[in-house]
Amino acid sequence: MKNSDIIWDYVDAKGAEFSEFSDVIWGMPEIAYTEYRSVAEHKKMLEAQGFSITENVADIPTAIMGEAGTEGPVIAILGEYDALPGLSQEAGVAEYRPIPGNGHGHGCGHNMLGSAALLAATAIKDWLATSGFKGRVRYYGCPAEEGGAAKSFMARAGAFADVDIAISWHPASFTRVDEALSLANTRMDFAFTGRASHAAAAPHLGRSALDAVELMNVGVNYLREHVPADSRIHYAMLDSGGIAPNVVQAKAKVRYAIRSTTLPAMFHLLERVKKVAKGAAMMTETEVEITTISAVSNLLGNGPLEQAMQGCMDRLGGVPFDEADRAFAREIQATLLDQDIENDFLRVGIETDPALPLHEGVIPFDQRGEPMIGSTDLGDISWVVPTVQARVATHAIGTPGHSWQITAQGKMPAAHKGMIYAAKVMAGTGVEMLLDADQLAAAKADHARRLAKTPYTCPIPTEVNPPLQPRPADLG
Ligand SMILES: [Zn+2]
Repeated sequence: MKNSDIIWDYVDAKGAEFSEFSDVIWGMPEIAYTEYRSVAEHKKMLEAQGFSITENVADIPTAIMGEAGTEGPVIAILGEYDALPGLSQEAGVAEYRPIPGNGHGHGCGHNMLGSAALLAATAIKDWLATSGFKGRVRYYGCPAEEGGAAKSFMARAGAFADVDIAISWHPASFTRVDEALSLANTRMDFAFTGRASHAAAAPHLGRSALDAVELMNVGVNYLREHVPADSRIHYAMLDSGGIAPNVVQAKAKVRYAIRSTTLPAMFHLLERVKKVAKGAAMMTETEVEITTISAVSNLLGNGPLEQAMQGCMDRLGGVPFDEADRAFAREIQATLLDQDIENDFLRVGIETDPALPLHEGVIPFDQRGEPMIGSTDLGDISWVVPTVQARVATHAIGTPGHSWQITAQGKMPAAHKGMIYAAKVMAGTGVEMLLDADQLAAAKADHARRLAKTPYTCPIPTEVNPPLQPRPADLG
């Protein structure tokens, strides 16, 4: 037991209240930048708990910040509450059963993500109030994690400029400290403009934008052979120019996602992809307009913070599931492929155990599996503030990310246990940093060392703004 572990009691005291809160958010799934109802619920909860509130953080109407405490270091706990399209699903059933409505669902567990983060911040606030300790805690409600890069925009706007430490978590199949591996990612549109013409009568007068898109894609496919093995480039056609084959297509547009393990490598790769686009435009005598849609940085790790979080997890032990939790997890596993389950074990470097429905331990710090890397907008925060993230078991081993099975498990007792555990880990790590000035200094020094090697450049150009969505009329 460490002095900071006293915070766990503060979490437990409000665990039931925040489990209900998580269920309320589950019931109002809203996608990127439309989280008006969810943020209103977060505001209500922040008010009820006595935080002072800043709305419209970074001019994003669905972003919110609550602060408590006086003087001292600032600990930020980051939450999310955006849902996903197409992942509507009834809770507590192990078969695909969407709920009639808009089709959205919490298929990434962000209902728990925001609720546990707000619970952790509330526990630290309550502890600060009773102990009289000097320190501040903030809850940041960050919208649009799914494809919206809100945290990157918030970081660019300076929302974390005076924060000392940032802590977050994500629902998962295994409990562990996140290994801070993610890809820097830019989404970029390439819009080609040519000249329409009758494809039979006057083809020589036409300049095909669709040809340009095709040539660009072919060029990038060749480029792929000559990029670092851990880079990723993929594309989607946004506009193929129309449905008439007898017209030379005057307009066509393709969207690219361009990813690398580091920001400098991504910036370099972007320039190479742009060259291919310009080459395609030159070959087809078309014009190309290149627009960045959004971008996120790769995650930077932080040794001292990761050690502190691991210590907290090790002292807590795993998430305390019971037989009813295991039974439902087994039912969910019956809907998965064997490969889904194997994949999950591979990821954390454990031999596959088909008899294990839920992870009830803690993955050791130095144990690493096969990295399977995506991108997250937490990346940008990790470049401006020392950041650490937990992964906590809330669902059956093998459950794929962004699936109806995650939505189905998002209101179960296992989910509540996982989110309360996550709140303990985040609050414990935060309080440890407040109590131990040396550890806090070590975390900041680790961060400074990483930035000295590669200074931060926000990957979103200054003229690009978040794709905000209007407030629903019925909300007034
Ligand atoms: Zn997520």
